[in-house]
Amino acid sequence: MRFFDDILRVCHSKPLMGYYCAMVPAIRQAFRHYIVCLLLSASGIVVAAESGVVLLYHHVATGTPQSTSISPEDFRAHLDYLRDNNFSVLPLDELVQSLRSRTPLPDRAVAITFDDGYSSIYETAFPLLQEYGMPFALFVSTEPINNRQKNYMTWEQIRALSEAGALIANHMVSHPYMLSRNAEETDANWLARQRAELLEAEATILKETGQSHRFLAYPYGEFNAQIKAMLAEEGYVGFAQNSGAVGYSSDFHALPRYPLAGIYARLETARVKFSTLAFDVELLEPDSPVTELERPEALLRFNLNGISPSQLGCYDNGEAMTLTWENRETGLLRIQAADAHSDRRWRYICTAPSTENGRYFWYSVPWINPR
Ligand SMILES: [Zn+2]
Repeated sequence: MRFFDDILRVCHSKPLMGYYCAMVPAIRQAFRHYIVCLLLSASGIVVAAESGVVLLYHHVATGTPQSTSISPEDFRAHLDYLRDNNFSVLPLDELVQSLRSRTPLPDRAVAITFDDGYSSIYETAFPLLQEYGMPFALFVSTEPINNRQKNYMTWEQIRALSEAGALIANHMVSHPYMLSRNAEETDANWLARQRAELLEAEATILKETGQSHRFLAYPYGEFNAQIKAMLAEEGYVGFAQNSGAVGYSSDFHALPRYPLAGIYARLETARVKFSTLAFDVELLEPDSPVTELERPEALLRFNLNGISPSQLGCYDNGEAMTLTWENRETGLLRIQAADAHSDRRWRYICTAPSTENGRYFWYSVPWINPR
């Protein structure tokens, strides 16, 4: 896919070619689909998949906050593992387009993303990713970049990433807590403020890099039903920060990503996530992760399709949860934490082993209590 990367590189350096450049990912996707079909028909090898995984990094450095950092050594170990174990690292837009159009993906499809735009991405991660020939996406908040804030990349550096084929996308202007209301702000004014900030960041990124994908990574992974509906109206895809694989049935206004920092950066735990598969599942209740309850309930409909219900497990803080099957035949499952939560953000995680040794289906329900 080097050929397409070269075209994109030329494209991003010539904003006037926007119309033709926008077609490149679609052509590349069609080309890859053709190759996948050829392989499938050739020898019965199963290479097509209906899911993939999105990885989330912030700093690739030591000496930065542990909860958002991976060391350069651990990051290189991730890339080595992806290269040596039959993973296909795809551009984020290609992964999303394939899932939305229900086009088969290569097995073990992965997209690499970075949030915020810290300097260590330019200084450390970027040279490594170039060395491994892996595409990646960067979600930037535009204000710290405009203000030339310490530890953030400059627009010149972001343009260098863009010209090398990186996808540059939206992380709002000021990295806000999107759920926070100003004093005496009405619901309508609050939502209008979020929309204005979203569109301003997108316009700045377009002006500085020539890119506009309408991809938003929610700052802190926080959103609610109204924000998702606003994204849908504006034609955006939303990325969250709760774990899980992405698949045909994913919520494209809150796609899960695996945060790989702190204790989760270690290869022994991260590698299990790299090869996870997406459940065919729908979150029926609630429609928003925002809750004031300490033990909120979720109602899910799993299409288990070959997975035995007895193999499905859901976990809260690593503790197995009681599964209440409302209807085992239709996969209707209710889950609720046994212990009260006092944190701002937490999640319930459901997994099941696949028939392939060492691989798991993985889904999580995020919760936010702004208090
Ligand atoms: Zn962020």
